[in-house]
Amino acid sequence: MPSNQDRMEHVEFLVVGCGPAGGIAAREAARAGVGTVVLEKDSVIGAKRVCAAGLRPGFCATFDLPREIVHCDTPRLALFDPAGKEYELTIVPGHTTTREELDGTIGKLASAEGADVRTSAMFREMRREGDGVVIEYADARAGERKTIAARNVFFAQGSTAKLEETEFAYPQWQSGLVTTLQYRVYLDRPADAVAYRSLEMHYFATRDGRMTVAWMFPKRDHLAIGLGVMGKMPGAQLRAELDLFTERVRARLYPAAAFTTKLEGHLLYGGAPRPGIAIPGAMVGGTAAGLVDATNGEGIYEAAMSGRMAAEAVSAARAQPARAYERYGAALKKRFYGRLRHRAELMRFLERKPARYTKLFEQLARSPRFVDVLQREDRDRSLGDRAFLYGQALRFAARTVHG
Ligand SMILES: Cc1cc2nc3c(=O)[nH]c(=O)nc-3n(C[C@H](O)[C@H](O)[C@H](O)COP(=O)(O)OP(=O)(O)OC[C@H]3O[C@@H](n4cnc5c(N)ncnc54)[C@H](O)[C@@H]3O)c2cc1C
Repeated sequence: MPSNQDRMEHVEFLVVGCGPAGGIAAREAARAGVGTVVLEKDSVIGAKRVCAAGLRPGFCATFDLPREIVHCDTPRLALFDPAGKEYELTIVPGHTTTREELDGTIGKLASAEGADVRTSAMFREMRREGDGVVIEYADARAGERKTIAARNVFFAQGSTAKLEETEFAYPQWQSGLVTTLQYRVYLDRPADAVAYRSLEMHYFATRDGRMTVAWMFPKRDHLAIGLGVMGKMPGAQLRAELDLFTERVRARLYPAAAFTTKLEGHLLYGGAPRPGIAIPGAMVGGTAAGLVDATNGEGIYEAAMSGRMAAEAVSAARAQPARAYERYGAALKKRFYGRLRHRAELMRFLERKPARYTKLFEQLARSPRFVDVLQREDRDRSLGDRAFLYGQALRFAARTVHG
């Protein structure tokens, strides 16, 4: 009679979650010839993701994705301060899409490269065994619990990742969670033309005095209008805040249109990145690693890039002795942690005195170079850019010293 050990499935690389982090990791690992299995809890990849789905400039080219998923190109960023004053910035155009298209496309491309993508498969537990990791998951289609052993696991379950009972625990995680609520607004006629080339970010206090970040991102067939608050807020209160905000957007952008709405909500993370993200046999990426820009909630690019870095680490570890987790942890921290920590600190600084948003937005609106340098990753900034940024930071500090 075979033992449990004999029956257990083995795989070289196991990916948990098929968002941008997991999907890109699976696609690129499979493409490099690494045997890859993906566990995704949803039955349809991306169908349940709640997101404004704004993509960084060049995202599709960077990750070799078809341009057809792009809904709108957005060369205009409109920032609104707590008094509702608008500051217009010209940016390198980003794009918008929907997550059903983005995640669904990446999932299909991962399968096409040979990754075994299993939907309705929910991760439950992990334990270490020998050189690798054993994962237990619920296969909802078969109605069974299954186990699978892997040489390396990449955890990419997003903001709802339950890692607090593991070696990746981070006591500050809970306090960094943001509750979000969003409408998809479907109009019977187009909104004002400016809406379709703009990303709007609004920073204001809710009626009970908590700072909130709200947005309007345009899509081909709807506008995504939403907001997020740090911590928890009762559902009815959050919905009332969203209704007030949506009404303000309606009055500006589609005053005469009839519309229907679809409401959706999810958790986001807006704190500093998770300190522990790599242990022997296991790595954490994307939002589960806290890779989100706290000033605007963006994390798709960082998630996808962390997936790429996990795939690179796993395939490089086949040829060279350095272990995948060490390679991954060092590379990811070097690339993203400095900027994302600064963004989380900046956000907390701004929230303490709302007048600070106004001062920052004035400074940004006056200096296209400031906007340009801020849009870039640390590693793409020249020495001159860094000195310039430092000068702008000093200027901002001097202007906010008394408020
Ligand atoms: C309202 C809102 C608006 C946002 N807007 C933007 C934006 O405009 N631009 C931007 O860049 N970022 C935005 N973000 C952030 C962005 O959504 C995340 O940074 C990004 O989704 C992170 O990707 P990920 O792959 O790490 O995780 P996710 O996209 O969350 O994917 C996680 C995957 O894991 C699966 N999963 C979860 N638990 C399990 C389990 N136990 N077993 C198996 N599978 C599991 C999920 O079903 C999901 O498919 C927004 C977030 C929110 C909430």
